Amino acid sequence: TGAIPGGTGPRILAIANQKGGVGKTTTAINLSTALAAIGERVLVIDLDSQGNASTGLGIDVQARINTSYNVLVGEARLTDAALPTAIPGLRIVPANADLVGLEAELISESDRPFRLKNAVAQMLASFPSLPEDERYSYVLIDCPPSLSVLTLNAMAAAHAVLVPVQCEFFALEGISQFKATIDQIRATLNPVLEIQGVVLTMHDARTSLSKEVVENVRGFFGSKVYDTLIPRNTRVAEAPSHGKPLILYDYDCAGSQAYIRLASEIIERERHYRAA
Ligand code: ADP
Ligand code: MG
Repeated sequence: TGAIPGGTGPRILAIANQKGGVGKTTTAINLSTALAAIGERVLVIDLDSQGNASTGLGIDVQARINTSYNVLVGEARLTDAALPTAIPGLRIVPANADLVGLEAELISESDRPFRLKNAVAQMLASFPSLPEDERYSYVLIDCPPSLSVLTLNAMAAAHAVLVPVQCEFFALEGISQFKATIDQIRATLNPVLEIQGVVLTMHDARTSLSKEVVENVRGFFGSKVYDTLIPRNTRVAEAPSHGKPLILYDYDCAGSQAYIRLASEIIERERHYRAA
């Protein structure tokens, strides 16, 4: 169970938090489009049976022929399942409700936490012969809100976890447990796994609650917390219903600009991995 090699291949980031509604999918959609807009080649892997990342990136349900489900059960390769989006440099492996039954289907398979990792390794084996736009520099995995076999697959395949935390009263509840889970996965499934960073979402600069949450989360995670705060912004919530990523829907809004700043911060943090 060696680590997925770094260097010339993509950096693989799992966007995870066992809480629902904290901005995982929104971050997967908007961070991936921002990264692609500044010249990175990005693959999103949708691992949530709700398929919201797929919808948000404009993939119709009927177009989801090969999905992350087919990849995880070994029926399709990542290179077959990755669909182009309206954004040059951005592809997505879509998801649909097939994922709901996966946990039960894999119950007796001994390699079940490593299905995605194996699929990534297969893709990397053919990397030099792939067209340039499929030689990704980033793979972002949108995880479901649970610590299911899907999230374990994401964390076993990833170099690092990106943790969205919503600026709300219960922000830190469950987060120390989640941090312990990451430590546990590092000790068992994936020795290289680290926290890439913690992104504070739905921040409202007018409230003292948001200010307090920022202080508390910075107190707990220190410099792992990105400087960029993602504001609560109605444009962010509206964009998916127009089937458009936010930066195409409204480039100038505060949400778009925040995700572009976050993309720059992540690239800056990733720089030393690329130097090798
Ligand atoms: P998760 O994937 O963690 O369950 P989502 O990304 O789906 O969370 O976000 C939950 C809800 O919050 C969605 O309706 C989404 O549109 C909304 N939302 C997320 N981020 C923002 C934001 N910055 N401003 C306003 N609404 C947001
Ligand atoms: Mg989600």
